Amino acid sequence: MAANAQYILALDQGTTSSRAILVDRFGNSAGMAQQEFRQFFPQPGWVEHDAAEIWDSQLAVIREVLSRGVDGKPVAADQLRAIAITNQRETTVLWDRATGKPLANAIVWQDRRTRERCTELQAQGRAADIQARTGLLLDPYFSATKLQWLLDTLPGARERARRGELAFGTIDTWLAWNLTAGRVHATDPSNASRTMLLDLHTLQWDETLLELFDIPRALLPTVVPTSGVIGESDPGLLGCAVPIAAMVGDQQAAMFGQACFSRGMAKNTYGTGCFMLLNTGEHPVPSHSRLLTTVGWQLGRPQGTVPVTTYCLEASVFMGGATIQWLRDGLGIIGSAPEVEALAASVPDVADTYLVPAFTGLGAPIWDSDARATLIGMTRGTTRAHIARAALEGIALQVVDVFDAMQRDSGIALAELRVDGGASKNDLLMQMQADFLGIPVVRPRITETTALGAAYLAGLATEIWHDTESIESHWTEERRFEPAITSDQREAKLDRWHQAVERSEGWANP
Ligand code: ADP
Repeated sequence: MAANAQYILALDQGTTSSRAILVDRFGNSAGMAQQEFRQFFPQPGWVEHDAAEIWDSQLAVIREVLSRGVDGKPVAADQLRAIAITNQRETTVLWDRATGKPLANAIVWQDRRTRERCTELQAQGRAADIQARTGLLLDPYFSATKLQWLLDTLPGARERARRGELAFGTIDTWLAWNLTAGRVHATDPSNASRTMLLDLHTLQWDETLLELFDIPRALLPTVVPTSGVIGESDPGLLGCAVPIAAMVGDQQAAMFGQACFSRGMAKNTYGTGCFMLLNTGEHPVPSHSRLLTTVGWQLGRPQGTVPVTTYCLEASVFMGGATIQWLRDGLGIIGSAPEVEALAASVPDVADTYLVPAFTGLGAPIWDSDARATLIGMTRGTTRAHIARAALEGIALQVVDVFDAMQRDSGIALAELRVDGGASKNDLLMQMQADFLGIPVVRPRITETTALGAAYLAGLATEIWHDTESIESHWTEERRFEPAITSDQREAKLDRWHQAVERSEGWANP
């Protein structure tokens, strides 16, 4: 590593695009390149990516961000202290170890093709045991049934897997394999805990589950700490070898980028959907509200000492910013997403109108796939402004329900909520959120928390930062929203909202 190695190259491999971000030693972004790649929808409910195209697009943006460089000067690979990988989670890749070629398209986390297999396991009474072992709900979302489907469907695949000829990985593993020209086959606990094959308590692959899903052990990557050097990039790729020092799932990376390092800290990301994570400390907390228990990160320690693992509770709201997209594309009452704020602010309140955005059913804590969106309470006085305002409230109120479930499951009373993601720029939405939660909502100066979190994790492993305290000092508040309604008003609001939610439940299956 050269003495002038001062940047971390963060790879943010998302569901629709690959990005590469240069992060400097002050935690600032010094450059970014992004490329979209193709989405395949071969059948209703199926979603696939071409893993080779994912790697090609990732390599292309790495080269682009380096050649564009900083202040008009290209950045050479020997100026990179480390590479950090953060990625879309659960997406499943199966490849040939000898050729490095995928055997089929990657099955994306959104893909529902294994629904029947999950129903079958449910009927066999397996769900509780799976949840106890993995912290996850029995659902096609996670990698296990996707990998089983590939092994069942591709001729000869399971036999070849048994002979050790094939490799499985989520996208972190796939990128590390390609960066190291096949020398590293590894994953970290934040990604591995989303496969439904990892024992959440020991952080080892679970033999009972491997048997249940008929998955040969020889397929599986080694589980390594989230923050720690796992190998070097192939020198031929960028001009010299660069240490790969972090692998982390995207939501956990955002959590780290928000500096939610202690038990009781939480963040919510307002993107297409909303993703909330709560740090529950060094032990997994089981959920009774159908939330997920997951690994936040594992920090590597000098040899001979035990790595420290942080666990989280996680919940998602399906329709966050997507509700605003619907106002724009479905209803056509706004021209762009940011316009919603002024329109909603043009009326003082929703005039008892509620929009329950159950367009694709309701997630935690209700879990009703037959629920459908409901707009209720309209009178002759209702305008598009009321609908816009009800849409924003509908996002914030769903987040309150998830938040309450997290507090119940963990027994932790949260002091504040840190926010990021595209829709967190909306001040009115953030004020509503603070009002309905009854605690402050805090927006940081840098809302690009995913890449930042991965860079922090890699910087810890390569001594750019020595501890989480020195990272905390980089996290700065941009704005704090304080609750401005009384608890009586809050309770009345939530009560009315729950009446509206009830009316949306079960609609698709009367
Ligand atoms: P993703 O990473 O899921 O693509 P982003 O974090 O980029 O999402 O956020 C985009 C989402 O935020 C879109 O669904 C969009 O409708 C919503 N959005 C963007 N700006 C605003 C705004 N000012 N108010 C409300 N929603 C917004």
